[in-house]
Amino acid sequence: MIESVKKRNKVKNMNEDFACRLVKLRKEAKINQKQLGQLIGVSDRAVSKWECGLSRPSLDACYALSRIFKVPLDELIANKPKGLEAEPRKKGGMASLKELYRVGPGPSSSHTIAPSRASKLFLEAHPDADAFKVILYGSLAKTGYGHGTESVVKEVFASKPLSLELDYLTVDIAHPNTMDMIAIKNGEEYDKWRVFSIGGGTIEIEGREEGADTPIYPHSTFDGISNYLKEKNMRLPDYVEEVEGADIWSFLESVWQTMKSSIDRGLSAEGALPGGLDVQRKAKTLYKRGHIDETAETRENRIVCAFAYAVSEENASGGVVVTAPTCGASGLLPAVLRYQQIKRGFTDSEICCALAVAGLFGNLIKTNASISGAECGCQAEIGSACSMAAAALAELFNMELEQIEYAAEVAMEHHLGLTCDPIRGLVQIPCIERNAVGAMRAIQAVNLANFLSDTRKISFDLVVQTMYETGRDMSKIYRETAEGGLAKLYQ
Ligand code: SF4
Repeated sequence: MIESVKKRNKVKNMNEDFACRLVKLRKEAKINQKQLGQLIGVSDRAVSKWECGLSRPSLDACYALSRIFKVPLDELIANKPKGLEAEPRKKGGMASLKELYRVGPGPSSSHTIAPSRASKLFLEAHPDADAFKVILYGSLAKTGYGHGTESVVKEVFASKPLSLELDYLTVDIAHPNTMDMIAIKNGEEYDKWRVFSIGGGTIEIEGREEGADTPIYPHSTFDGISNYLKEKNMRLPDYVEEVEGADIWSFLESVWQTMKSSIDRGLSAEGALPGGLDVQRKAKTLYKRGHIDETAETRENRIVCAFAYAVSEENASGGVVVTAPTCGASGLLPAVLRYQQIKRGFTDSEICCALAVAGLFGNLIKTNASISGAECGCQAEIGSACSMAAAALAELFNMELEQIEYAAEVAMEHHLGLTCDPIRGLVQIPCIERNAVGAMRAIQAVNLANFLSDTRKISFDLVVQTMYETGRDMSKIYRETAEGGLAKLYQ
């Protein structure tokens, strides 16, 4: 069968599936075609065409239908029955911390840093192309506008004609953050890359080596690392240096300087964040709003939160931050470390050792589960950041290996099931506040580990595996699609 006929038949089947769902939903809601048309602002003839499979509604109309019938958009327009999602990607080994901590503009590492990197690689690989076409799928399409994906892609391809499409309908993709990039010459498409943005700015290109992280660590579980360290009588930062080489310290020093400057910029900025939600910056007020009779605990919480707000607000406004492990969760780790540095006078070198430990825990999560909100919900972003910060703080306090593991495990365990539901697809509500709450939790996890690590029953490796399975079981509406939770109910 020739391609065009195959394609037509596929479209026809998709329309018929959708038509059946629509008729069923309308009848269940006990409204006729005219009433439905009035609710959406189209004619009853248009509704009739949709129900006969002769045409499909526009995306705006799909959103309206999803609201009217109270069904998730995915379910309404899905081309496959629920539960037939593509298998998760195969995981590789642990890469360098230089692949985890990335410096770049916010608001979203998987939606801005990764698509920007992929677009640059594709542009460089096709200098002779006359034009380009980019198609965004899944979460990249659904929250790409609020997360800035469209604008970074357009910026990279600014020198050539670009056709940018958002595909909301295709669901049989191997990763929820998928994009196709097509090079065109003399009117013909002559090369195509399918790219997965797998979290924290990291990309994988289907069938190619470019952009992929290279595994360098010999271990990929905490258990494996722990046994090795006990045998060699080493601490975690020594292990990082042994694998990465001594130049890891200058890299981490520059990471720390970037984190500090994002806190400083955030603390001095005022006004509303971009995006139209009218979210006012709060870091500066929070930092200065101390009471004369404030207790030490209240002050600690206020300052830690102010630092977390500062970085997260910088991120939301497109400022430069460090992925820790993502842009959305970039405020938590710097807030905890900066507060302790000021309070207890830790040196920058000591903070870099803590960053090395945090990076190792982030890497374990990235390798064995996910740090992507689109893949596993916010537990994979804020939960991972909280684990990293708890491990870093426990290292800073010179705690035992078991206590460090326990702190990281507790921090993740009590974020299990946390959904991703950013209002209007912006990395603002609930994201900014969530960084602050996560920072306070990381400190509490370390306090608990200080007293109770010898009674624990759950290992870090187990909680990471649990987070991944929980994330894969989570409905897609709670995985960075802005279709469920606060994103759905907030008016
Ligand atoms: S809700 Fe969490 S995972 Fe989702 S965009 Fe916000 S910070 Fe990222």
